[in-house]
Amino acid sequence: MKKTRKVQNKGYKVPGWFKSIPLGSHGSNPTQKRYWKVVSNLVRQRDFKKYKGKCVSCFRRLERWEDGQCAHYRRYATCNSYFKWEIKNLALSCSYCNQNEDGVIGYAFGEELKRRYGDKHLDWIEKENKKYHGMKLEDHEIVSRVEKLLEENPWFVLP
Ligand SMILES: [Zn+2]
Repeated sequence: MKKTRKVQNKGYKVPGWFKSIPLGSHGSNPTQKRYWKVVSNLVRQRDFKKYKGKCVSCFRRLERWEDGQCAHYRRYATCNSYFKWEIKNLALSCSYCNQNEDGVIGYAFGEELKRRYGDKHLDWIEKENKKYHGMKLEDHEIVSRVEKLLEENPWFVLP
């Protein structure tokens, strides 16, 4: 019989290295807010290098990655569970586009995501988000997702 590898939230202690991450602006507890800080910095730094500092929607060039915001394509409020932190639903944006989300800006955002990830990417976002419906967020799962991001992006330095 296979042993269950699932650790329950109860009794799990978030490690010290994770607790030293500053709190980000999204999330409903400190672990989630730290997860947002990691994802937001990673996406903004990644896109700044990869796309020469351009906003995902209007292509305006930002001077520094810190000047941009980490924007959701599918809105944060309508993303399920861990999908709120899914980096393929996120991109570096200027603050104007991120705060004045209208149809035109949203459309341009989607078109650019298709160029980056392929024509089926917006369908992928919808399908993937559905998979997370009703899923409870667990501290241990968040920490392991951050560990995976660090492994996959060795250039990234924790904030
Ligand atoms: Zn913009």
